[in-house]
Amino acid sequence: MRIDCKHVWDYLSAYIDGDVDPDLRAQIDRHLETCEICSAVLDSTRNVVVLIADERVFELPAGFSKRLHERIDAMIDADSASG
Ligand SMILES: [Zn+2]
Repeated sequence: MRIDCKHVWDYLSAYIDGDVDPDLRAQIDRHLETCEICSAVLDSTRNVVVLIADERVFELPAGFSKRLHERIDAMIDADSASG
């Protein structure tokens, strides 16, 4: 089974929470090693999660996912434009 970027993003929050199957986790790990876009997305998502946890706020702001996806789309556009 081979996963793509959208697949990784679907499971990103579960992955950060350690809430994915070991098999799926291994697939995501492998993808992250070779995909700069997903590594960057993971980094920025983790930072947001850590900040939120530090402030003891457990609700994501409204529109967070939408904005994250817009950012991902913009990153992909930039990536495909340069490649
Ligand atoms: Zn990717």
